[in-house]
Amino acid sequence: MSIERIVKELSAVAANPKGQLKAYKEAGKKCIGVMPYYAPEELVYAAGMVPFGMWGSNRKTISQAKEYCATFYCTIAQLDLEMLLDGTMDLLDGVITPSICDTLRPMTQNIRVAMSEKLPVIFLAHPQFRRPAFGLEFCRAQYTHVKTELEKIRGCEIKDEEIAGAIKVYNKSRAARRDFVKLASEHCDVIDPIMRSAVLKAAWFMRKDEYTAKLEELNALLRAMPVCNWKGVKIVTSGIVVDNPTLLKVLKDNHVAIAADDVAHESRAFRVDASEEGDPMMALCQQFADQDFDVLLYDEESEKNRRGEFVANLVKESGAQGLVLFMQQFCDPEEMEYPYLKKALDAAGIPFIKLGVDQQMRDFGQAATAIQAFADVLAMQ
Ligand code: SF4
Repeated sequence: MSIERIVKELSAVAANPKGQLKAYKEAGKKCIGVMPYYAPEELVYAAGMVPFGMWGSNRKTISQAKEYCATFYCTIAQLDLEMLLDGTMDLLDGVITPSICDTLRPMTQNIRVAMSEKLPVIFLAHPQFRRPAFGLEFCRAQYTHVKTELEKIRGCEIKDEEIAGAIKVYNKSRAARRDFVKLASEHCDVIDPIMRSAVLKAAWFMRKDEYTAKLEELNALLRAMPVCNWKGVKIVTSGIVVDNPTLLKVLKDNHVAIAADDVAHESRAFRVDASEEGDPMMALCQQFADQDFDVLLYDEESEKNRRGEFVANLVKESGAQGLVLFMQQFCDPEEMEYPYLKKALDAAGIPFIKLGVDQQMRDFGQAATAIQAFADVLAMQ
């Protein structure tokens, strides 16, 4: 298959999660909605079900969810509930609701109240202290709860060897996505920001073995091509979700390529693998403990600004000339972290801009002007 064909297929999946859900259901698969962040999707896969990422929607307007949410909830959380209420996600067999930020915590209960008569709502609380033994133990208890609830939906036990098998499939998929991120930068003349986003987004709506097979084929085709001599500028993107095609087209139109990302919906979700040795449930807990450099995770050494420096190094090591921070409106974790990120970027002499975005944004005029000006500044350096 050609690069164009694979990208087109994955883009079609990314653009139509509802159709993808319907197709899996017609094929006899059970599907589980997985809200952000860090849910152990491997357990869903091990149960023979399809995990469905729920990261809001760029095409919907918040209406019914307003009945349940304060207006200062971010649009991602509100639109997840909207899609549950308006029937978009009616075919789901359950939903996992992590509670890692101050919006998601109450949202888990809003969803439980709104939906629990319609579908199982599986609550998940990650440990704040994720590395000490007591944190791992807490995580294991939580993951066991998720497993038990999935077993009720499945109708039988999820065996350790099934979880171990799922970990292998997911590690392979994470490695392929990390490869793709590098290859997309090396071949940014072929893979523009809209394509890059769609290819990575499709992973949230496909069984990971099917997705990885397609992505590995795409990676092989890209690897066989000479590295491009890019004449435009390169940036690192940072934020929660950067998948709006209209916004990404602004980057493309201004010859801005993405060298790497620090985006929760993209690389932050596949940086860390789980061990393929030993107890597979503990391997998933340890994988969460090993996550790092994320605004959503507690950092015992926060005074060192390790995350800010990590992002600054990512810009340097990826060969980008600057960073664009796509800040979700009403996202407390990102807003509170911003001064520290700014400090690290300033100290490293890295140019950057911050754009306020949300998923109900329909007018991109201001963002387009800012990106165009930023691209011009970077091009002159
Ligand atoms: S965008 Fe921010 S506030 Fe909203 S769910 Fe994510 S971390 Fe929480």
